[in-house]
Amino acid sequence: MSVIVPASLNDALQALARSPHATLLAGGTDLMVELNGGHRQVSEVVALARVAELRTWHHDPVAGVLHIGAGVTYAEIADEPIASWVPALAQAARTVGSPQIRHAATIGGNLGTCSPAGDGLPVLAALDATVHLASAAGARDLPLAEFMVAPKRTARLPGELITGVTVPVLGGWQGYSKVGVRNAMVIAVASVALVTDTVTESVRLALGSVGPTVLRCPDAERFAREHVDFEHRRVAAEALQRFVELARDEARPIDDHRSTAAYRRHAVGVLAGRLLRRAFPNE
Ligand SMILES: Cc1cc2nc3c(=O)[nH]c(=O)nc-3n(C[C@H](O)[C@H](O)[C@H](O)COP(=O)(O)OP(=O)(O)OC[C@H]3O[C@@H](n4cnc5c(N)ncnc54)[C@H](O)[C@@H]3O)c2cc1C
Repeated sequence: MSVIVPASLNDALQALARSPHATLLAGGTDLMVELNGGHRQVSEVVALARVAELRTWHHDPVAGVLHIGAGVTYAEIADEPIASWVPALAQAARTVGSPQIRHAATIGGNLGTCSPAGDGLPVLAALDATVHLASAAGARDLPLAEFMVAPKRTARLPGELITGVTVPVLGGWQGYSKVGVRNAMVIAVASVALVTDTVTESVRLALGSVGPTVLRCPDAERFAREHVDFEHRRVAAEALQRFVELARDEARPIDDHRSTAAYRRHAVGVLAGRLLRRAFPNE
């Protein structure tokens, strides 16, 4: 196996231009597990750990956005100052693996793997994140919904790498919750991100582990917008119950070795209802 360790983004893109099908290595917390388990064979690797441009983040208070480089780790995202700008993403980050995993695992790697159970992805979906891709030929941006194609399949082309992701910094309450087979070090059996925006008075809901990719819930979001009171942070019990039903209806879960479709559908309803009540604590 050949391993190239570029020291800059330009060098990484040139290496990919020479070997468009080379495998990218970030923290290795997904890739090394696959290699060690014999589930994946690779002959050429481009390791990104020394590419400083991917390891930075930038907050633009005028545009109201946060750019997070693909090489930023979940440990950094869980901490200040990122945690204050995107609290739900920080909550999701704190649920990823163990402290050791979070110090190695990157958001770019979570996107690269594109598992419907990836903890960062429901929050990025609820935030309508933009994914930035680059190759030696140029850069392009994709809405996350277009980037995620199928379970563990993305719209990334040979020769491209993910340089980062941009999310809005919103004023309203936001949160992330997941259910697994134990309380820590667990892949989500079902997960939910709920984001509110006080400017547009909108509620955005995304579900993880209950579909081929992370799912947004347009019906539940529309219903919530019409039935919550942003000024008094209020939602009636009956409206909350209907929101739960709509969230459950939008799930497309399957039975697998981790859980049943029926339990997953039930769990996303519980989590969605819990998050809406936290966002709007008054009846
Ligand atoms: C013990 C353990 C516990 C875990 N727990 C969780 C958990 O609770 N929640 C969770 O979501 N995940 C979990 N994971 C999975 C993993 O930690 C995450 O998916 C992590 O974000 C992967 O990031 P990484 O930097 O390690 O990626 P890598 O393993 O380096 O790469 C993952 C994939 O993304 C590609 N890739 C990496 N960087 C880029 C880039 N810049 N551009 C394009 N493609 C790229 C790689 O080629 C590879 O296909 C766990 C893993 C382990 C080993």
